[in-house]
Amino acid sequence: MAELPALNCSVCLESYEEEGDLCPKWLPCSHTVCLGCLRHLNQFRQITCPECRALHSVPTRGPEAFRTNRDILELRRIASQLNQVRGKQ
Ligand SMILES: [Zn+2]
Ligand SMILES: [Zn+2]
Repeated sequence: MAELPALNCSVCLESYEEEGDLCPKWLPCSHTVCLGCLRHLNQFRQITCPECRALHSVPTRGPEAFRTNRDILELRRIASQLNQVRGKQ
C-alpha cells in the first residue's frame, strides 16, 4: 500500500499541528521537522538537519522564523477527512 508523505515529525514521531511546538518547519535543505524539535536541535544558533546532517544557521528570530510547511498541514487535513470517510477513527 502506498504511504502518504510523512505527516509526523521524523524526530519525535508526533503528528504535526497548525500551531505551537508541533508546527512543521521547512529547513533550507527541504526536510521538515517540528518546531519543538528544532528548538532542541538549536545549538549556538545552528541546527543540524536530523535527516541529512546539513548545517543551517538559525534566523535571528529563532527556529520559528523558518517557513511553515503548509503542504503537510493540508495533507494532514485531507488524510484525516479520508479516515473519517472510511470510518477508521
Ligand atoms: Zn518533532
Ligand atoms: Zn535535511
